[in-house]
Amino acid sequence: MKIGGESFGQENGKGVSLTSYLEIAKQIAEIKKKNDIDLSVVIGGGNIFRGREVGEEHFDKVTADYMGMLSTIINGLGLEEALESLDVPAKLMSSIEMDKVCESFSKKRAVDYLNQGKVVVFAGGTGNPYFTTDTLAALRACEIDCDLILKATNVDGVYDKDPKKYSDAKLYENLTFEEALEKKLNVMDLTAFALCSDNQKPIIVFNIENIKDISKALKGEKFGTLVN
Ligand code: UDP
Repeated sequence: MKIGGESFGQENGKGVSLTSYLEIAKQIAEIKKKNDIDLSVVIGGGNIFRGREVGEEHFDKVTADYMGMLSTIINGLGLEEALESLDVPAKLMSSIEMDKVCESFSKKRAVDYLNQGKVVVFAGGTGNPYFTTDTLAALRACEIDCDLILKATNVDGVYDKDPKKYSDAKLYENLTFEEALEKKLNVMDLTAFALCSDNQKPIIVFNIENIKDISKALKGEKFGTLVN
């Protein structure tokens, strides 16, 4: 599951809300209790800093992206701590080495932790500037061979136009990768999207407000937009 940083922010989606880590951890605990699945979470950092939004010429883009990647680790620590406070075993793994803070990512260890029933939280982006945490979600999904990517957003799925601007925007229930590409629908950024499409990783885009109903998606029932 990919959860953007805004879900961990204050009411305006910025800064850090400790309560939101706990709220999302509670939902994850419920999902684990109700469904027999292995679950890993890829965390964004947009509530703290988004290097990809820095357009100022005098600020180095690579530095800005590292600031963004470090933001995701702050969120990762918050979610790991919140999960463990609810007795949900969790393990934060970063793409950027920082031994005193958390473990570095290794595919083998991540799979071992998942097999032990832990929720693995992936942070630190891909460890490279010029990418996004959507790309991390796609990359980890391929590496650890996930069956499904669940992308949380603040709208109900993929629309033909921005539902926040147009009241007649149409929500798609199902799309093929080809349709999404042809219609230039913004499911994920193009690098992430290409990885999912090339490796046949289905994506469900859903509203974070409906996270409690995620069992529907896992049972194949109508939920958000399925891209496959
Ligand atoms: N980032 C990066 N490389 C990555 C992933 C993220 O450089 O592989 C940086 C980038 O600056 C991005 C920020 O980290 O803006 C936070 O990630 P993202 O914008 O994807 O977070 P979200 O919008 O999902 O909260």
